[in-house]
Amino acid sequence: MVIMPRQKFPEAEARLFRRVFVCMHCGAKLRADPAKIRLKKVKCRKCKRREFRPMKRGQKSGA
Ligand SMILES: [Zn+2]
Repeated sequence: MVIMPRQKFPEAEARLFRRVFVCMHCGAKLRADPAKIRLKKVKCRKCKRREFRPMKRGQKSGA
């Protein structure tokens, strides 16, 4: 029997946050590969544009 350790992984969490991007035009959030963002392979679901900025960690939901 294996018990999953209830441990926090700050690095993994930071990595998760780094994969979340915010559309610069409509503010939609989406999770994607940073490499894909850089190569502009990711399109915003709402406004179909390809400019994103990484979501800041600890940012409060003040959209
Ligand atoms: Zn958008």
